[in-house]
Amino acid sequence: MLAFINYNQSIFIKSKFIAMAHNVTLIPGDGIGPEVISAAQKIVNATNVNINWELCEAGKKSFAQGLTTGVPSETIASIKRNTVALKGPLETPIGHGGKSANVTLRKLFDTFGNIRPVKTMPGIKSPFQNHDIDMIIVRENVEDLYTGIEHMQTPDVAQTLKLISSWGCENISHLAFSIAQSQGRKKVTCATKANIMKLSEGMMKRTFESVAELYPDIESEHIIVDNCAHQMVMNPEQFDVIVMTNMNGDILSDLGSGLVGGLGIAPGANYGENAAIFEAVHGSAPSIAGKNIANPTAVILSSVMMLRHLGELDAADAIENALYVTIDKGKFLTEDISPTPICGTTEQFTNQVMNNLGQTHNKWSKRSHSKLKLQSVPIVESAPSYSTEGVDIFFHTSTPPQTLAKTLSNIAQKCGFLLKMIANRGVQIYPDIGGFTSKSPPHHQCRFIYKNGSPTESEIVKLVAHLGAEYSWTHLERLQNSQNTETYSKAQGES
Ligand code: NAP
Repeated sequence: MLAFINYNQSIFIKSKFIAMAHNVTLIPGDGIGPEVISAAQKIVNATNVNINWELCEAGKKSFAQGLTTGVPSETIASIKRNTVALKGPLETPIGHGGKSANVTLRKLFDTFGNIRPVKTMPGIKSPFQNHDIDMIIVRENVEDLYTGIEHMQTPDVAQTLKLISSWGCENISHLAFSIAQSQGRKKVTCATKANIMKLSEGMMKRTFESVAELYPDIESEHIIVDNCAHQMVMNPEQFDVIVMTNMNGDILSDLGSGLVGGLGIAPGANYGENAAIFEAVHGSAPSIAGKNIANPTAVILSSVMMLRHLGELDAADAIENALYVTIDKGKFLTEDISPTPICGTTEQFTNQVMNNLGQTHNKWSKRSHSKLKLQSVPIVESAPSYSTEGVDIFFHTSTPPQTLAKTLSNIAQKCGFLLKMIANRGVQIYPDIGGFTSKSPPHHQCRFIYKNGSPTESEIVKLVAHLGAEYSWTHLERLQNSQNTETYSKAQGES
């Protein structure tokens, strides 16, 4: 039911119906972005799917114009209007200054789910070319260490907050099961570091397990994330859908693309309740930008995901088939995947794909792609059930632990608190539990418990003021008490 316009502009008319137009925001991006986005746009247009592309800017140029978000308001308005975008990579300033424009876009549109398919393609050389890998990595996209909340606590000690919410875990778990349902997949694996980060990663594990009960037809399992990395290399075929928190998913999805042939062929999508942004896993690859040698496959496959999202299933299948045929023929492939030293340019490869539209590859098999359920769970706050039992205060001091403890204990006593322990990087150093802790950095976590129930706000402020007069405090954390759940971690060695 499709009409294809091939490279030579000859038209295969298979349908006389002109379908409804889709409005799509198109962001070429930085580095190789404009080259690979233009390739994908040409191929999508050649299927005759009716798309009104709305060209928009974001990234390097916007940063250079002094826009600290890297995303102009016209681009935000366009995505808001169209709810679908195809985006090239955006360069991120490293180590200082502006925030990532990619992260800004994800947050602005609350695209909480990042989807990265990992699939073996015939004709692509990789250490796993003889395997039949076909998995989807579902990565939480807006929380975790990527909230970007960081502080230098001392000139030598930095802190990044890992923020995980139960809603975030619930949304991403539902999305993973929804993807499994929409594509007829059988199993969802949740990979976490819950054995170490029992509260944050543990929340992901616990939430996943309760969401899994709502999908009895789909097998579910939990695996520790480092073992998941190992298993992905040892036996990748065992995975169908893997769901993870943000950083774990970021790292393991790149591992996934490495399994099947590299960043040049790894597509992705960012889904939220109100918008979907499709983009390759790779970045702007500045070293090959402007040379007409970048592989456009990852962005073309991202546009295939976009077409499925728009309900244009035939066009999506046609492009996927044309890619399979082109890559398997092995001619005019870009340098990163070419089986011979004679490589094609981005443009030549694109033209081959366009010429092969309408062909079917014998190893390509059809999957169902029913509409994804993208509703996020409502934010319903739990009734407050915590009471304060004390505070952790972090100090920047090189005072030896025994001396520090003596002074802090005396002050705490006068304020109605008890110094329970001092820890350095999570290990108790007062009271001494043995070991070699003398080389600890001058950054101490000191735990104060109120002696008589819950302290009032002014009692906490009084404690901080008195301690602060002696030692420089850098960070304060409330210790909450709950009858049912653990609400703060103990230091190694703490009773
Ligand atoms: P990268 O741009 O993904 O490039 C890493 C290497 O992968 C390239 O040097 C190139 O290898 C290869 N590569 C990537 N895409 C390719 C393609 N389409 N065809 C052929 N080879 C490809 O990663 P990076 O160098 O770490 O990041 C560069 C910039 O992109 C940074 O500013 C980063 O913040 C940004 N970034 C943006 C996004 C995004 O917009 N979603 C994602 C990741 C990174 P060879 O050098 O071997 O040719």
